[in-house]
Amino acid sequence: MNSIEAITFDLDNTLWETDVSILGAERVMHDHLLEVAPAAMMADFSLEAFRATRATVVAEQPDIAHQLTVVRRETLIRWFIERGASRAEAEDLAGEGFRVFYHARQQVEPYPGTEDAIAKLASRFPLAAITNGNADLMAMPLGRHFKFSLQAEHFPAAKPDPAMFESALDRLGVPPHACLHVGDDLAHDVQGAQAVGMKAAWVNTRGREIDTGFEPDLIIRQVADLLDHL
Ligand SMILES: [Mg+2]
Repeated sequence: MNSIEAITFDLDNTLWETDVSILGAERVMHDHLLEVAPAAMMADFSLEAFRATRATVVAEQPDIAHQLTVVRRETLIRWFIERGASRAEAEDLAGEGFRVFYHARQQVEPYPGTEDAIAKLASRFPLAAITNGNADLMAMPLGRHFKFSLQAEHFPAAKPDPAMFESALDRLGVPPHACLHVGDDLAHDVQGAQAVGMKAAWVNTRGREIDTGFEPDLIIRQVADLLDHL
């Protein structure tokens, strides 16, 4: 790891636990829609029903699957149109639902020790983020330690596609072998980064057995452990 000149990070489930914040955000969205949408259109709303509608949207438009903002909006639009809303009314309600979801979704709590470790690493390396989700890192306090954050929805494809990794390398101005990518997903993060020639650290936050076929350059339990290796 002596040759490392820059570090890129996955966000969700690498810097913070995501499931908690997404579930909380969906609850906030639900509560808000109960207030602003006609009661009849929300009568059968549940997270399960919403997810079923989302699965239909993605099945019908697989090309938007990695654009989480578009998928969530389209799902809400479809939900309301199927329950009698006009297109314009459905778009308004979807906009409201997404607005509160997106705001709530950004309320994440970095894993213990992570903020401190990121600050220390940022004093020695340029840091960037590469996410398949729609966390708005640069609007969070933690974002001040990062040069930039790339979101899959602004690219033709999500990780493990090379597009975001190559864009990050380009912007960081480092060759692939001098850049370490850190993430929790063996296929998206480890394999994706290694495929473009980067080094990859697997953050095994949940203490899983490693799946066969993956060979991370480094395995750590949490981001703070990077300090022992760099
Ligand atoms: Mg992740």
